[in-house]
Amino acid sequence: MTTAPPPRFDRSHTDDLAGYLTASPTPYHAVAEAARRLEKAGFTQLRETDAWDATAGGRYVLRGGALIAWYVPEGCAPETPFHIVGAHTDSPNLRVKPMPDTGAHGWRQIAVEVYGGPLLNSWLDRDLGLAGRLTLRPGAGAGDGAGGAGAGGPEGPGGGEVRLVNIDRPLLRVPQLAIHLDRGVVTEGLKLDKQRHSTPIWGLGNGREGDLVEFLAAETGVAARDIIGWDLMMHSVEPPAYLGRDRELLAGPRMDNLLSVHAGVAALAAAANSGTPPTTIPVLAAFDHEETGSQSDTGAEGPLLGTVLRRTVAARGGSYDDTARALAGSVCLSSDTGHAVHPNYPERHEPGHHPMPNAGPILKVNVNQRYATDGAGRGILATACERAGVPWQTFVSNNAMPCGTTIGPITAARHGITTVDIGVAILSMHSARELCGADDPHLLAGALAAFLTE
Ligand code: ZN
Repeated sequence: MTTAPPPRFDRSHTDDLAGYLTASPTPYHAVAEAARRLEKAGFTQLRETDAWDATAGGRYVLRGGALIAWYVPEGCAPETPFHIVGAHTDSPNLRVKPMPDTGAHGWRQIAVEVYGGPLLNSWLDRDLGLAGRLTLRPGAGAGDGAGGAGAGGPEGPGGGEVRLVNIDRPLLRVPQLAIHLDRGVVTEGLKLDKQRHSTPIWGLGNGREGDLVEFLAAETGVAARDIIGWDLMMHSVEPPAYLGRDRELLAGPRMDNLLSVHAGVAALAAAANSGTPPTTIPVLAAFDHEETGSQSDTGAEGPLLGTVLRRTVAARGGSYDDTARALAGSVCLSSDTGHAVHPNYPERHEPGHHPMPNAGPILKVNVNQRYATDGAGRGILATACERAGVPWQTFVSNNAMPCGTTIGPITAARHGITTVDIGVAILSMHSARELCGADDPHLLAGALAAFLTE
């Protein structure tokens, strides 16, 4: 009997990523879990509605599914530039409609709206859980902390309590039509209508208005009449798993783009506790709503990052000129997933650029500004990777394939900050279960930590 060779790198980072993915079925959970980890590293929360003082140290701000965190070294001048890691917390999925209770022909169903651009077929025949946040009537949730499936959340706008909820067990399923009833699937392929074919079942009986809210009330220990709003979505309950002959791959949900958020949290915590104060201010900016174009108060198009950066300069006594100087010297590494070469579809890729798993972060280039990277940006990633002892590779699209985009160009245009688009090469992007190299999360975090400690 032969044993598999040991992995090239310590897998503790990737094990930790698997735990982060499981703990983060929604953007709200992703930022709550990131905040919990930052608190452990000595960071404290600032509220946007409070006055900010000038103290040094690690701070973070939460707003819905977005988080901005930063570390101000002791004695830091107001014009000190920022080194920012950018990422996004949302992933394509199925979200609960405002009047959710539906059904037909004796089946109880939940009406869903498709969020972003999922590979809808990947959501078929999976055991799905339900998670998100509940908005409670002001005063309703005060101090009870009840609900085995829930966790206390931040105060929402308007004074109501926002309660996170995660029903992480098989609850729903979007059943695929049997092949006997869909012979054409073999010859013509699977055709899914977003409206007619994406509605999950969650039991038998006649759906009645109020069913879902009553169910959530029972799960969380809150009175149904006190649940006055919700943002709920579905997730596969199958945990991440190592895969491959030598377990060199990792399969799991929401790698696009919680892989980058997780690496950013680890890198920022490392920068804050490195012992050598960086000459720049390390920042993590994790935005919501990238998958739908970033236009929201918690998306990269919104004012959140700019407002936070300006306030940190003002809190240290900085002027308008100091802010402009700080932003002019700042750099953002925008990290998101990219496409590894697919062995079954090599013609879809640029022949000279075949990113591979476990070969390190990818530099993403598109001269039409779908990615913000330029030659100087290439140098910035190369320098960070060299300092970290991490290999890296380049991605560019085949000219016949439209190129995707991410928060990088938005950050560059909105804030005038030099931005470099990077990421990790994966397969099955936007599937309910994606696939990456098991070493790459660790390599990305190393490169980001080197960048944030400059
Ligand atoms: Zn993404």
